[in-house]
Amino acid sequence: MATGCMITFRSVQPCSRAPFRAGPILLPHMSRYWSNTVRTLTPYVPGEQPKLDNLVKLNTNENPYGPSPRVIEAIHAATDDGLRLYPDPGSEKLRAAIAGNFNIPSQQVFVGNGSDEVLALVFLALLKQDKPILFPDITYSFYPVYCALFGIGFETVKLDDTFQIDIAHYAHPNGGIIFPNPNAPTGCLLGLAEIEKLVSSNPNSVVVVDEAYIDFGGGSAIPLIACHPNLLVVQTLSKSRSLAGLRVGFAAGHADLIEALDRVKNSFNSYPLDRLAQAGAIAALEDNDYFESTCKAVMTTRGQLVSNLEALGFNVLPSAANFVFARHPHHDASKIATQLRERGIIVRHFKMARIDQFLRISIGTDNQCATLMTALREILA
Ligand SMILES: *Cc1c(COP(=O)(O)O)cnc(C)c1O
Repeated sequence: MATGCMITFRSVQPCSRAPFRAGPILLPHMSRYWSNTVRTLTPYVPGEQPKLDNLVKLNTNENPYGPSPRVIEAIHAATDDGLRLYPDPGSEKLRAAIAGNFNIPSQQVFVGNGSDEVLALVFLALLKQDKPILFPDITYSFYPVYCALFGIGFETVKLDDTFQIDIAHYAHPNGGIIFPNPNAPTGCLLGLAEIEKLVSSNPNSVVVVDEAYIDFGGGSAIPLIACHPNLLVVQTLSKSRSLAGLRVGFAAGHADLIEALDRVKNSFNSYPLDRLAQAGAIAALEDNDYFESTCKAVMTTRGQLVSNLEALGFNVLPSAANFVFARHPHHDASKIATQLRERGIIVRHFKMARIDQFLRISIGTDNQCATLMTALREILA
C-alpha cells in the first residue's frame, strides 16, 4: 500500500498500524465492507498443519510415502524459463493421461486445483438446482460449506446404525446427490451395484461420487459413466498418489457434464493448474507401479493397525480408505486425542453428534503406527 495511506477510520495513524495489524478496536469496523454472503459463511476448517517437526501426523489422511521419484524429476524439468508463460488452460496432456488410465475419451475428463476446487465447481455447475440436494448426515464437512457459499438447499440423509449409506433412503425427489465413496470420515465403502442402482433410479438428477479414497480398496465407478450420463465421479491425486501439496483433482463423466464444469471454470479461473502441477501430475499417472506398491503398503499397515486397535478394545468401522474410524467403549475420544497430542501424535476428532466418540486415524508408516499403539497402550492403561 502507498505510504500516503495514513488514514484509518478513527484517526490519522501510521499505515503500519492500519488494517493488518489493527487491534481489536478496528476490526468490527472493517467487517462493514463484507458482502452479505461473506457475513453468513461458516468456512470449512481443515485438519491442523502443525509447524513443528517430528510430530506423528495422522490427522489429514496424507500419504505417509512421498510421491513417485518421477514426479520430482518432471517438476524439476518443468522448472525453467517456460514459467514466464501461462500454462495450458485446458491441461490437455494431463487430461489425456487421466483418460488413458481409465480408458475413456479426454472430453469426459475435467481437472482442477485439487478435488476441493473441482467439487466447488460441481456444486455451482451441476448441483445448484431448484430442489434440495441430498448427502449423508455424516460425510465430508465441506459439502454444506459449498451449499452455503452458492445458496444451494440440501437435506441430509441418515447413515444407518452401522454407519453405512442405505440407498433406499435416497428415493425421493432431489436436485442431486453427492457422497464420498468410501465415505469420509467413516471409511465405509458402498458397492458398485448399489451405486449403479442409485444412479439408475435418479435419472433426473446428477449423482456425484467423490472417490478421494477409492484406491485403498474400493472399485471406481468411472467405468459406469459410459452407460450413465447422470453420473459424475471425482478423484484426487492428494491421497493415493501422495500429492496433497501439488493440488490436482479431476472429474470423469459424460461430456455434457464436463462442458458444464468447463463453462464455470472459464468464468472463474482459466488456469487452475500451473505448469509444475500439470507436469508432476502427468508423471504420477505414468508411474502406476509406484502407485500400486504404496497403496498396497498402506492397506497392509491398515490391516495391522485395525487388529492392534481391536486388541486394545477399540471398535473400528470397516475401512476401505487410508484412515480408520475407531471408538473405545470406555474411554472418551477427545481425551484420548488430547493425550496423544501431548505425546506428539495428532489424530482427528470431530465434535459432532453421533461421531464425537470416534477418532479418525490416518494410516501412517509401520513405524508411525507402532508409535501410536505404544502411546495408546500407555493412555488406556
Ligand atoms: C481429501 C478429500 C478431498 C479433497 O482433496 P483435494 O484434492 O486435496 O482437494 C475431497 N473429498 C474428500 C472426501 C476428501 O477426503
